[in-house]
Amino acid sequence: MSTKRDYYEILGVEKSASADEIKKAYRKVAMQFHPDRNPGDKAAEEKFKEAAEAYEILSDADKRSQYDRYGHAGVGNGARGFGGQGNMNMDDIFSQFGDIFGDDIFGSFFGGAAGGGRARGGGRAHGVRGSNLRVKLKLNFEEIAKGVSKSIKVKKYVVCNTCSGSGAKDKGSVQTCSTCSGSGQVRKVTNTFLGQMQTVTTCPTCNGEGTTITAKCGSCKGEGRTYGEETVTIDIPAGVQEGMQLNVSGRGNAGERGGMAGDLIVLIEEEQHKELQRDGLNVAYDLHISIPDAVFGIQIEVPTIDGRAKIKVPAGTQSGKIFRLKGKGFPAVNSYEKGDQLIHINVWTPQHLSAEEKAIMEKLQHSGNFKPNPDKNERSFFEKVREIFS
Ligand SMILES: [Zn+2]
Ligand SMILES: [Zn+2]
Repeated sequence: MSTKRDYYEILGVEKSASADEIKKAYRKVAMQFHPDRNPGDKAAEEKFKEAAEAYEILSDADKRSQYDRYGHAGVGNGARGFGGQGNMNMDDIFSQFGDIFGDDIFGSFFGGAAGGGRARGGGRAHGVRGSNLRVKLKLNFEEIAKGVSKSIKVKKYVVCNTCSGSGAKDKGSVQTCSTCSGSGQVRKVTNTFLGQMQTVTTCPTCNGEGTTITAKCGSCKGEGRTYGEETVTIDIPAGVQEGMQLNVSGRGNAGERGGMAGDLIVLIEEEQHKELQRDGLNVAYDLHISIPDAVFGIQIEVPTIDGRAKIKVPAGTQSGKIFRLKGKGFPAVNSYEKGDQLIHINVWTPQHLSAEEKAIMEKLQHSGNFKPNPDKNERSFFEKVREIFS
C-alpha cells in the first residue's frame, strides 16, 4: 500500500509523540472530519476513516512498533489486525469513541443525549425508541382552505414523571454495567488462521445502554414511561387533502428508559360540506334556479368556503351553464396556486302545477320563443367539461 499516507502525518504528530499526544491529536482530527459535522462530504469521510485507522495502529504499542519498523507492510493492509480486510467500517470507528472521547464530549458534540445520532454508530444506546402513533384528524373546508392550528389530546406513553424516564428508583440505583464497564459494547477476540480478529457487539447484560438498574422506579416499574395523555398542537398547512399524512416528529409514544419518542402520524380526513363539493383544488356548487329567474336573471347568494358570495345570473341563462368564481377554491399545499369555485346552473322544472299555472304553460307551449334554439356559439356540454378539466 505505497499510496497510503504516513500515520503520524495523518494525525499531525511527531514520530516521538506520547500516547497521550496521539490521543489528543486523534480527537482533534476526528471531530474536524466527523460525518455528523460534514454531512454528505465524501472527502471528509475518507479523512475521518484514515484518521481512525492511524489511531488504531498508533494507539497500540505493539502495532506502533511494527509500523515504526516496517511501515504499512508491518501492520497489514490497514487496521483490524493482521490479515484483516483493510479499511475499518464506520461502526468500528464509532465503537472506539466511547474509550477515546468519554461520554461528555461525545454527548455534547455528537447528537446530544437524545440517542439518535449514536445509535447508528453502535455507540451506547439510550433505552428503546418509542413506537409511532397514528391519529385521524377531521377538518372542515374552511380549516383546510386557511390552514389551522389544532390541539388534540393523544392517549399514549409519556415519560415517567417520577424518574424522568430513567426507570430507576433514584440516582443511586443506576449502576455502570459491570459486563461492559459502561461502554455498552463487548469486544470479542477470536483466533483464526489469519490471525486475531476482533469483533464488537452490543453488551448482552445492559442491551447496549451501559448501565443497569438495581432498584426500579415504582411508578413505571422500571420502564421509564407510563400510559397517559398529552395535548399536542399540530399546525396544519392550508390545502391539505383527505388521506394526506403529516408527520410530527418525536410526539408519538415515549421510548423506554429515556429512548427517543416515536413520531405522531396525523391522517387527514375531510368533513363533508353541506352544499359544496371538493374536486382537487376546485370547489363545485350546484345552483338551482326557477324558470322565471333563468328568464329574467337574478342576484343570488351562494355559499363559498370563505363565507357567502353574491353572484349575478344574467337574464336568459341556460340550464347547465357553469360560472366560475376565480380564486375561490382551495390553495395548493406547497405553492401559490389556487383553485376556483364552479357554479353549475340547474333550471328547476316544476313537477306539480295548479290549474292556473297549467293554463299559463299551455299558452306558452307553442309560443315561438319557447322553442329550443341553441346558439351556435354556445359551447356544448362536452366542450365545457373539456374546458374545466384542462
Ligand atoms: Zn418511573
Ligand atoms: Zn453492559
